Amino acid sequence: MKYALVTGASRGIGKAISIRLAKEGIFVYLNYRSNTEEAKKTLNEITESGGHAALLPFDVSNPEETDNALEKISEDNPDAYIEILVNNAGIRRDNLQVFMDNDEWHDVINTNLNSFFYVTRRLLKDMLVKKSGRIINIVSLSGIKGTPGQTNYSAAKAGIIGATKALAQEVAPKKVTVNAIAPGFIKTDMTADLDEKELKRIIPMRRFGKPEEVAELAAFLASPGAAYITGEVISVSGGIL
Ligand code: NAP
Repeated sequence: MKYALVTGASRGIGKAISIRLAKEGIFVYLNYRSNTEEAKKTLNEITESGGHAALLPFDVSNPEETDNALEKISEDNPDAYIEILVNNAGIRRDNLQVFMDNDEWHDVINTNLNSFFYVTRRLLKDMLVKKSGRIINIVSLSGIKGTPGQTNYSAAKAGIIGATKALAQEVAPKKVTVNAIAPGFIKTDMTADLDEKELKRIIPMRRFGKPEEVAELAAFLASPGAAYITGEVISVSGGIL
């Protein structure tokens, strides 16, 4: 059995990716920070349709918590190694730069960027030894073009895009691929406060995307068919370039 870890799997895009990977027969570790109720719903959806998964709560912005949680996986199941990692957990704390305080900056950088380092470095070693691995980073159009009111979020996502390209080249000889998915506007809790009617006008497809539409690409990038694709940033944005 293949094993995957999806961070931020209790809700939204991470939930859809977890359900989609489980449909492929992959055992999915479902990470989240605090919303156990929603995480259990993801778990139940997977197990009720015959899939396999387990809850793995930890704060991805905390290096000690991350290390402890990942060590526990190898203690509990020494034969398993996580072959597919989806770095998806993320938050928004929007503000204009001139009004932004230290917490708004650091919370977003820690959760959206530093987490990539904390989680990936721990799982990479096994992938390199086994010569097989897929790392999929969920970034954002904000990291490609920049979004006013989101200097913190745009900086974090742009940082992961740089790391994706660098790491892809480091680990390609060991058959580990590293790619990024850049969603546009996707209907989740994160975008619940946005004016969809107004924003639809700037989306060529004239609608927000569904989490399942991001999950399809994640499942492809995790599949054997995507073995020669690495270092790429692929948008799922309904035509926003
Ligand atoms: P969401 O619905 O708000 O869900 C966020 C998920 O991340 C939840 O599972 C949450 O866990 C988890 N999380 C947050 N902070 C965490 C932490 N410190 N440690 C562990 N888990 C944490 O968000 P979403 O819209 O699905 O977004 C998922 C990813 O896609 C993010 O990286 C986001 O930046 C990116 N993205 C989203 C959109 C969009 O339009 N929705 C567009 C571009 C990019 P709890 O439930 O425990 O809080």
